[in-house]
Amino acid sequence: MLGLYADVIIEISHEKLDRPFQYKIPENLRDTIYPGARVEIPFGNANRVIRGYVISISDRPEFPPERMKEIIGIPEGLGESGPEDQLIRLAIWMKRHYGGTLIQALRVVFPVKKAVRPKEKKTVILCVSQERAEEAAAECEKKHRVAQARLLQALASCSEMDLSLLKDRFNIGLPVIRRMEEHGFIKLSVEKDYRNPAIAENSRKKVCELTEAQRSIVSDFAKNYHMGLKGTSLLFGVTGSGKTEVYMEMIAEVIADGKQAIVLIPEIALTFQTVMRFSARFGSRVSYLHSKLSQGERYDQFCRARDGEIDIMIGPRSALFTPFSNLGIIIIDEEHEGSYKAETMPKYHARETAIERGRLAGAAVVLGSATPSVDSFYHAKRGEYRLYQLSDRISDTGLPIVTVADLRQELTRGNRSIFSDVLREKMKDRLKKKEQIMLFLNRRGFAGFVSCRKCGVVMKCPHCDVSLSLHGRSKLVCHYCGYETPMIKTCPECGSKYVGGMRAGTEQVEEAVKQMFPEARVLRMDADTTKEKGGYDRILSAFANEEADILVGTQMIVKGHDFSKVTLVGILAADMSLYANDHRAGERTFQLLTQAAGRAGRADRPGEVVIQTYSPEHYSVAAASHQDYNVFYAEEIGYRKLMGYPPVSHMLKVLIEDRDPDRSAEMASLMAEAVRASGKAAVIGPAQDSIWKLRDVYRNVFYIRHADMEVLADVKDLLENWRRDNPTGSTQVQFDFDPM
Ligand code: ADP
Ligand code: ZN
Ligand code: ZN
Repeated sequence: MLGLYADVIIEISHEKLDRPFQYKIPENLRDTIYPGARVEIPFGNANRVIRGYVISISDRPEFPPERMKEIIGIPEGLGESGPEDQLIRLAIWMKRHYGGTLIQALRVVFPVKKAVRPKEKKTVILCVSQERAEEAAAECEKKHRVAQARLLQALASCSEMDLSLLKDRFNIGLPVIRRMEEHGFIKLSVEKDYRNPAIAENSRKKVCELTEAQRSIVSDFAKNYHMGLKGTSLLFGVTGSGKTEVYMEMIAEVIADGKQAIVLIPEIALTFQTVMRFSARFGSRVSYLHSKLSQGERYDQFCRARDGEIDIMIGPRSALFTPFSNLGIIIIDEEHEGSYKAETMPKYHARETAIERGRLAGAAVVLGSATPSVDSFYHAKRGEYRLYQLSDRISDTGLPIVTVADLRQELTRGNRSIFSDVLREKMKDRLKKKEQIMLFLNRRGFAGFVSCRKCGVVMKCPHCDVSLSLHGRSKLVCHYCGYETPMIKTCPECGSKYVGGMRAGTEQVEEAVKQMFPEARVLRMDADTTKEKGGYDRILSAFANEEADILVGTQMIVKGHDFSKVTLVGILAADMSLYANDHRAGERTFQLLTQAAGRAGRADRPGEVVIQTYSPEHYSVAAASHQDYNVFYAEEIGYRKLMGYPPVSHMLKVLIEDRDPDRSAEMASLMAEAVRASGKAAVIGPAQDSIWKLRDVYRNVFYIRHADMEVLADVKDLLENWRRDNPTGSTQVQFDFDPM
């Protein structure tokens, strides 16, 4: 008696996603209809025949079956499933694996349809030969007209370019463009009504010859691809080892096969250079998405993909849902990046979702990184992903030289400033040589942990091995299991009274730099200085134009642009991210330190890095200082195994929110109890969330752990059913699988 009724939605890309309508499934279709299937149905009073999509099938009628209409059939010519079918199935998969409602998942997968107002297209066109432009660029370089030089260089390799791209991604301001126009080098053309934000077709197509290492990866990929072994691969290659070149060859292979490609890149790393490289290679068959596109523009780009006008879509997380009808490959660059995890329901991870989309579409998935996530490397080691490695940089610039400064010794020597002696000396030297410096303050995951400044010991939960957070002045709390202990007055290890939370912010660093080097020009980049629109790009372009000697910033400065004059990177407090109160702290620290170090000496001279830390012996810090991923991974995976943390085991975070603190706590313990009673999986908690009160809502949390992700999905279903059967009033529940 299963599968008698189908919920059908009529229009997917509608602002208010249509509610589903229930239809009877005729007997002859019972074996052929599945969630995601396209069907023809009678609709409205006149029973007009229209098309819809089945989103679920059940045996429970929602109203008397004798009044229910019947599905007519499956439209002709749709033997092969189209992109919408696949995307609906993907949404159903997302609902099961990440929670939330199906409508929430469908909204993520299908962008809202909105009318697009035609826009003006402003293009900058080169008016001299490419050789002349290169000469002029060299002249400008000599005269330190850096922005002009950059503009000419860009146009020398690609003679026509979108103005907004030049401004946003290459940090070139309108005055510079005006000046070059007056000098007759370029002209600015304005045209109405444009659709393609990518670069003009007539760029110079440079295909470089692959190195031996690159070639063997591409040919192995191609061999597997053509044998039908799509699956997932991990490309582990140090920065500058030629990964992007490998991606492009793989894409060329897939396109030659008549298929399409999606390239995911974290928003912040989606630089002008990236777009230009793909456009120079693939011309106007490339399009890209970024957060500045309106809903309508995004929808428009998706239509172009659907209509076969483009073959390659580049963009952040959401580009994953580009409705290509013949998808051949999904590439995720910088796959370790936290921004691939969605922050709102459903809290999907683009990596796992890409693998599912790849499976549905029969497409290959390629993950790339210089510091792979522990998850991906684990799967690669177990043979679930193919592992490709590129261990050398293409250019001869060696890896940066790293010095570790032990802040405990600085304190013993009586140095209580933010800067170690060695960092201060090196800064003095660079300022004298007129080279640039970046100071990176690691505040990622900073959550008020408490440590000893003399011996470096950090207060941790005895049950979870994550750091305790300071609540008010008197209490230390674990946000995994709820353990509490009074705030310490002296260090339990060495008896020192220098115990407390770390409080340094970027502003204090800026102040300290100005005091020490009054003549240095300092720029600061953090959440404050980048709040207004364009702030981020403006600071980067000022630094690129050498309007400052020192750039102080948070993790925002780690990614994105390369500055060829930077020869020194100082990492001020490597520890901060080490003691964030979650199990990924070590991984994030290794990634941040390695990537920050990679900012130094990218051009002709090798760079230097100073890592300041209270825990030089911690494996994340030590491995980053030797840029040794394998050492880091071996330690980290041992720890995850011991503690039963992902990827060895999986975690489901259940967040309970209510305006009434007692109710929030009560619901959390009732729901945790329901899971315990089922005996399906281990429960940790409940406890107050690290942010207990947010906008007047009280948040309690518990964690469920199991080696099998499917069991966690079952537990989520169990909790959803529990909520249906028990009145939970205004209480909200959010699920987060393998939280980050
Ligand atoms: P990654 O993506 O690993 O950081 P890229 O693909 O950006 O590395 O390559 C780094 C630099 O080396 C780029 O300037 C690129 O054009 C160049 N490059 C890559 N592969 C080759 C090659 N086979 N021959 C010459 N130059 C290359
Ligand atoms: Zn101590
Ligand atoms: Zn604990």
